[in-house]
Amino acid sequence: MQEFENSPSPDHKQYVRKVTLPSGKTIEVVSFEDPAAPETDIHVCPECTCELVYPVAWQEADHTRWEVSLRCPNCEWYATDIFNDEAIRRFDETLDRGTEALVADLRQLSRANMEEDVERFIAALTAGHVLPEDF
Ligand SMILES: [Zn+2]
Repeated sequence: MQEFENSPSPDHKQYVRKVTLPSGKTIEVVSFEDPAAPETDIHVCPECTCELVYPVAWQEADHTRWEVSLRCPNCEWYATDIFNDEAIRRFDETLDRGTEALVADLRQLSRANMEEDVERFIAALTAGHVLPEDF
């Protein structure tokens, strides 16, 4: 059994990268992964490249970033990371294509302890938009 650690270990560096969006807004991209990694594709599992990674928990980290816990249904990979608006937006576009399956997963989650967040997320998904500022 592999224990998941909520906080990064001391030798696990945190990388911060500033990105300027077309709108002129500057955001910080925080990653605990290799900084050389290309664009963050949240739905792709880093372990097995399965494209069915989905969020199991989801909370606002600050105004422009989201802390998302992810799980891969294929290899049981699990991680929590912080993503910016843009990564979340792309994740949402991907999830949109599989919204029904996701909603089913989220409804299971709603039996856990984050019913309100999940319901709001489902409402946003079914309305066709998940923009963090809309919450
Ligand atoms: Zn996987």
